[in-house]
Amino acid sequence: MENIKRFGFGCMRLPVDENDNINIAETEKMIDYALKNGVNYFDTAYVYHAGKSETVIGEILKKYPRESFMIADKYPGHQICDSYNPEETFNEQLERCKVDYFDYYLLHNINENSIKVYTDEKWGILEYFKEQKRLGKIRHLGFSCHCSTELLKEFLDYCDGAMEFCQIQLNYLDWTLQDGKAKYELLTERNIPVYIMEPLRGGKLATLSEESLNKLKAVRDNATAVEWAFRFLLNLPNVKMILSGMSEFSQIEENIAIFKENIPLNENENKLLLEVAETLKNSVPCTACGYCLKDCPMQLNIPFFISIYNELKIQKAVSVRMRLDGLPQEKQPSACISCGMCTQNCPQKINVPEELNNLNEILGTMPTWAQICEERNKKMKESKK
Ligand code: SF4
Ligand code: SF4
Repeated sequence: MENIKRFGFGCMRLPVDENDNINIAETEKMIDYALKNGVNYFDTAYVYHAGKSETVIGEILKKYPRESFMIADKYPGHQICDSYNPEETFNEQLERCKVDYFDYYLLHNINENSIKVYTDEKWGILEYFKEQKRLGKIRHLGFSCHCSTELLKEFLDYCDGAMEFCQIQLNYLDWTLQDGKAKYELLTERNIPVYIMEPLRGGKLATLSEESLNKLKAVRDNATAVEWAFRFLLNLPNVKMILSGMSEFSQIEENIAIFKENIPLNENENKLLLEVAETLKNSVPCTACGYCLKDCPMQLNIPFFISIYNELKIQKAVSVRMRLDGLPQEKQPSACISCGMCTQNCPQKINVPEELNNLNEILGTMPTWAQICEERNKKMKESKK
């Protein structure tokens, strides 16, 4: 497969001006450049840029023949708000993007919290979008997720073959940190093509420390950190699309140049990269063995909390917070009573109450998912006025 066809234009971080409004001229320049160079997949969502991402890319792309580009859009079920209903939202999205069908359409962000909405018969989300596919308004139906491998499996079973592709967060750090390897293998086993978001983990993998970079330069002198990250993903045959959200023209130039050159990583380089990933983590060494669970008087999901903590230490991502907020109050990390039973049973001798305390401190500095949704929905309403 020609690698440039595996590169997609993510429209979540379009260039903005000092007031946070999308810089339309710069975005147009980037989209024109993308299409001229063989990049024709544009990934947007109802909530990106408070709804303006869809409007702006629709306005820019309308000068091109419809069959020359592909739009992937997403249904905001994860926003958990009574004001969205599938039919109204879908029609609004078609209108904003100025198209009469979507090439790709995703249920946005399946996770431990949002799955309740996506599988609730009252909303009828899956059935509605299956019907839109039957009517030709959606060419390919899929979903994106930020959930555990177990939940991914559960959701695939629930959909019973209706999902044609799946978008996950994957990069060489999340290969182990977010259990990316297991998710990739599960999807591959089920013949579901993998689409990638956050290949650079929100930019973290684009700027490595000098120490990490020197290790990589010792085997490939001229390769940049960005190049290493993309080439890791290009080595995975079931990765059919790699999205990158770009805010500057220089980023699209750099990315396209990387995808046009076909230089796979060899086995040793791959191994080295995964070793570098380990040094970036500074993780609590939980193996998820579950021995700590049996005597916890509060019946808390300790390995889940530790995996969340390890992620938040690297990046305070809202998608991580969202997964945790699906739990009831009495199952939150704050319900720990510091009895220490877990630590006694832990083969790794992890001081669980202390780590949960650290996790609570981080959570205290972050807005809850409900607050984030409220703020986003407010902005969305304002932008419609
Ligand atoms: S210290 Fe907290 S997490 Fe550990 S067993 Fe006691 S209540 Fe459960
Ligand atoms: S016993 Fe220790 S290593 Fe095992 S899941 Fe619990 S905290 Fe993690």
